[in-house]
Amino acid sequence: MSEPKPSRPPLLRLRVTAAAEKAVRSGHPWLFASSIREQSRDGTLGELGVIYDRHNRFLAVGLFDPESPLRLRVLHAGKPATLDDAWWRERLMQAVRKRETWFAATTTGYRILHGESDGWPGLVLDRYDTTLVLKLYTAAWFPRLDDVVRHILDTLAPQRLVLRLSRNIQSVAKETFGHADGEILFGPSLSEPVVFLENGLRFEADVISGQKTGFFLDQRENRAFVESLAQGRAVLNAFSFSGGFSLYAARGGARSVTDIDLSQHALDSAGRNFALNQSVANVRQCAHESIQANAFDWLADAREQKFDLLIVDPPSLAKRQDEHDRALQAYGHLATNAIRLLRTGGILVAASCSAHVKADEFFDKIRQCARQSTRPFTELRTTRHPADHPASFPEAEYLKAIYLRIS
Ligand code: SAH
Repeated sequence: MSEPKPSRPPLLRLRVTAAAEKAVRSGHPWLFASSIREQSRDGTLGELGVIYDRHNRFLAVGLFDPESPLRLRVLHAGKPATLDDAWWRERLMQAVRKRETWFAATTTGYRILHGESDGWPGLVLDRYDTTLVLKLYTAAWFPRLDDVVRHILDTLAPQRLVLRLSRNIQSVAKETFGHADGEILFGPSLSEPVVFLENGLRFEADVISGQKTGFFLDQRENRAFVESLAQGRAVLNAFSFSGGFSLYAARGGARSVTDIDLSQHALDSAGRNFALNQSVANVRQCAHESIQANAFDWLADAREQKFDLLIVDPPSLAKRQDEHDRALQAYGHLATNAIRLLRTGGILVAASCSAHVKADEFFDKIRQCARQSTRPFTELRTTRHPADHPASFPEAEYLKAIYLRIS
């Protein structure tokens, strides 16, 4: 005898503070536990919670997480909607269609879904040629993971789909849902990195265990600008990871490129990326060197003024708000030391991916360091988010870079 089907629990209804109501109405995707005034019952992980306004009208629906202070991540706000298969597919297709117009066939690595700002809170989907990587930052997706995977496979027909998990959800993934970081959800197993194209350059990505989803796809536009500045220059790429900026500089005609990273694994990957692009004459002719070192110390200790282009793109230096001041100071030290190592006419490219350090204060800090160096300088440009990594609300803004030419 089969067990009777459990009856569906009644809708999870929420009432929130006036401030939260206003924020959600204007498109903010986060509802904190502290903003909830009334809740119709206990909610479970990943179920849909509906916010009603003070006149009892539908305001928004989102993914509920009873454990997190970020209690509801909004999926849809405005008119009432039914989140059926057609709705989810359309949500996915909206993001896919945009990307189709942004990228030529020479770029097969890019972000398809960028979390909240693409309407997929706490979820990222990256493309590396025919492999897709789905990365989750909240456990609230696990109860509906099968559906999400089905929509991705049906809509995008990849050869392979890999699951990546942020560190904070790896134990619940394993214990409650039987999923693991680096698990292949669909397609053949992998014994080596996947290779994809970015503006015609070939790169490898370790999609199973590399940082982020295997590559820093968010720096594509900055790399392209670096290529245009590199002709004849001696380049230092600090925090080089797998040599993203280095390959562009080399193709742009750099005389030499020196990579510095703490991780030998990352430097080895950069070496393989140079090997993958030996058909490009400029890359073949560029002298490539790597130094395994702490870049903070190396830049502070180096004495010789011998570079013409210096890229400084450290990992996030402020993971929490209380690390903000120290981070800003550290960006300053890096810039000051980098400027010291630049020859006349040399270019500093300073980047930051710390969301807790705002773009304007970062730019001001780097300009201030340049002024304190007492060397004349001109600002070439500042940059923010690339189109495939949109930031639709203030907390989503993390990426910024500034380019200074130092006389
Ligand atoms: N610019 C890179 C991304 C940098 S990610 C790109 O375009 O792909 C940050 C890198 O800094 C990582 O590779 C990490 O290994 C490295 N790293 C972290 N701390 C470091 C340190 N103290 N010194 C040198 N490298 C460091």
